[in-house]
Amino acid sequence: MKKYAKTDPYWNDQSLVVEAWLVKKGFDLTYSKSADNELDWDRKRINIRPIKDKEEMFYTLLHECGHILVETNDKGFKDNYKTKDFRDWHKMVATRDSALKVSILADEMEAWNRGRRLAKRLNLRLNEKKYKKIAGYCVWAYAAFMAG
Ligand SMILES: [Zn+2]
Repeated sequence: MKKYAKTDPYWNDQSLVVEAWLVKKGFDLTYSKSADNELDWDRKRINIRPIKDKEEMFYTLLHECGHILVETNDKGFKDNYKTKDFRDWHKMVATRDSALKVSILADEMEAWNRGRRLAKRLNLRLNEKKYKKIAGYCVWAYAAFMAG
């Protein structure tokens, strides 16, 4: 596979294809440093924090789209906990319920898997090795945060 520079416009072009998919689903996409990488269900909006590595930004975008797919298709593991407020991320990850913690991590990983499959469906290319590495790093960061 061709090697791409981190700032290669190629990644922006691919992000535009994902953005078109999002718009069809009724979601907006913003790139802002004043918010986290997040999916805002109430506003139907995904925000991605701009960084130098456009490839990583593209993968993060796929991951956030993966969350939409997890929630709208099979609802994920967290669906076991219907009474909990999952819109408040800080409240959610502060849980002392170890089974819920694992469910959160499972849904995070599933969102990464869904994002990867979405890229395939849209005929977009990604570096599997790098994608999985970023996924693992992000899920581990969640785990470490919740364990702390
Ligand atoms: Zn996530």
